Amino acid sequence: MPVVGRLRSMGRNAAVTAAMLAALPSLAAAGPVPADWPRVTTEHFVVVHPPAYGADAAVIGGFAEEAWTLYRQVLGADPPAGVLIYLYDRERFPREPSTAWAEHDPPSLHMLAPSAQPPRERSWQDRLWYRKNVAHEFGHVALHTVAPRAGRMALFLFQEGIPEYLSVYRMGPQVRAKYAGYEESLRSRARAGRLAFLHFEDDYGLAAQFIWFLEETFGAGASIRVWRSAAPSWSQAIREELGVDVLELEARWVRWAASRR
Ligand SMILES: [Zn+2]
Repeated sequence: MPVVGRLRSMGRNAAVTAAMLAALPSLAAAGPVPADWPRVTTEHFVVVHPPAYGADAAVIGGFAEEAWTLYRQVLGADPPAGVLIYLYDRERFPREPSTAWAEHDPPSLHMLAPSAQPPRERSWQDRLWYRKNVAHEFGHVALHTVAPRAGRMALFLFQEGIPEYLSVYRMGPQVRAKYAGYEESLRSRARAGRLAFLHFEDDYGLAAQFIWFLEETFGAGASIRVWRSAAPSWSQAIREELGVDVLELEARWVRWAASRR
């Protein structure tokens, strides 16, 4: 199934928040990409781009290779190669400029070409935004290949949290600084006492920091072990892979979040 990550800039601090799984777009919905559009081939990707945007394709291909290396390290195996990246012009892009998504059949990433961003959108959708979101969307493709069952994809905290954690917190200090609003949002939730699991909502920043908590508390790779688990439920996967039950996990998460400065 395709996966859609919908990201929107919010207000002055440009925090990115509350994404949702929307109706699943397809290439057909995006309008046909002309067969004669140029392609830039890198070691593991093929970037299809409007003729005027060759320079964008080279930049995005570089970001994608960086993401591929990160996922190879995280998964301990080679992620898929030959992944298509479609850069669109404004006429063919069916969604808001701040939107990007991944599809699994064929494995592909979809986004507006950087040079096609409207001028007023460019302060947020800048190079760092693309670097981060190429890594996020490629995460869906890479993680899909190691998920044991389709049902594994259902929990937002892991499905969006793992790619968001890796793309925001493992792609260098500049990306992390751009998304500093996430950490501020967690602090304000901690102050308000809104971190119990029953308060959880589909929030990318919260999900990313939940994964960060797992990695710090249970060791590097803990979140991937849970993701890969073949256990029949999330609570059983957590028990088997992390050695705690869900209530204990919640208590530790609340303490971890409250200790963030
Ligand atoms: Zn996503």
